[in-house]
Amino acid sequence: MPQKWAAMKKTLLFLPGPVPVAQPVLEAMAWPMINHRGPEFADLLARMERGMQPIFGTERDVLFLGSSGTGGLETAVANCFSPGDSLLSVPVGVFGKRLADIARTYGCNVEVLETPLGAAVDAKALRERLARDAGRTIKGILLTQNETSTGVQNNMRELAAAIRDHGALTIVDAVSGLGASPFEMDDWGYDVVVSASQKAIAVPPGIAMVAVSDRAWQAIERATIPRFYFDLRKAREFARKGQTAWTPPISIFYALAVALERFHADGLEANYARHARYASAIRAAFEALGFTIFSRSDAHSVTVVAATPPSGVECAALLKTLRENYGVVLSGGQGELTGKIVRMGTMGDVSEADLVGAIGAIELALADRGVAVTFGSGTGAAGTVLNGRVAATV
Ligand SMILES: *Cc1c(COP(=O)(O)O)cnc(C)c1O
Repeated sequence: MPQKWAAMKKTLLFLPGPVPVAQPVLEAMAWPMINHRGPEFADLLARMERGMQPIFGTERDVLFLGSSGTGGLETAVANCFSPGDSLLSVPVGVFGKRLADIARTYGCNVEVLETPLGAAVDAKALRERLARDAGRTIKGILLTQNETSTGVQNNMRELAAAIRDHGALTIVDAVSGLGASPFEMDDWGYDVVVSASQKAIAVPPGIAMVAVSDRAWQAIERATIPRFYFDLRKAREFARKGQTAWTPPISIFYALAVALERFHADGLEANYARHARYASAIRAAFEALGFTIFSRSDAHSVTVVAATPPSGVECAALLKTLRENYGVVLSGGQGELTGKIVRMGTMGDVSEADLVGAIGAIELALADRGVAVTFGSGTGAAGTVLNGRVAATV
């Protein structure tokens, strides 16, 4: 890598994680090390919990783990359940399936409530399935707030209402959505909500955040899946002393502290509005350029737009042209959507100029691939949304 690294050209990253990180956040990572069992770290941890709580919509514990998002999800499963527990998984794509796989790995019996790709979970279908569980054999429900592989966002308020009467413990993968749209963990009644540093909070990867309800703590005491590094009881015990159980990725904590300061200086609403506006602008541009949006109209994500390119344009070739000729990096599809869609993220330190520039580059790349493009049709559609002449829709 090093040789190529030195020759690296300017790139615009539009991945759904990791995302572009602002310079002051990057620079915080160069601060000197401190004692992670000392008063400065305790102060840092307290500020981070206070910074994350409104983003989760909770006044409960928010714990920080040294891992990517998957580590946080594994933590949720391993701490809340016992081998043999029956869980209902409600996946809408690759990440929902991965959460179910984690539960199976730990010996849980996982039933899957299927949803067609591109759609959000049907709250009515979920409510009906739970109503049939009169004996309350379902101990837990595995949900995804925002499914990065399909560009679909679930209506978590509606799903919470569908679950409430049943009372099963809920685990929510909010890794790629938290911080980009309102989330009210306490009001909606979710139990364990997991996020990670490298998505909408716009920090390098390395920290998972796990918010835990009071009810979840009771389940955690009873659960018998073995756990050591990712033991939430230990995490809480140390958090009360202003520490993490194990040596934390201190540099990423510095970055997170600065990112949260910036996040709250802008305010929750401004952050939510920006993601919605960007996603709306990207969808408008894609449509103007002949792409088909993959998510159904009532299920659009605000953090990632998935779309099928115009006919005759191969996904991999388009992504390669965009990357090599213009330094614009988008994602392809995952799993069964490989080669069928491209995905463009809205998260991170992305300006409106970056966004319009990237869409302009997509026009150029399409032309390079032989598509008869009307230059300005994509940027015009995006500009109309960004300028507010067309309201951004979720
Ligand atoms: C990114 C992501 C994850 C976590 O992936 P890691 O690579 O472990 O950080 C989990 N769920 C969703 C929906 C994601 O987008």
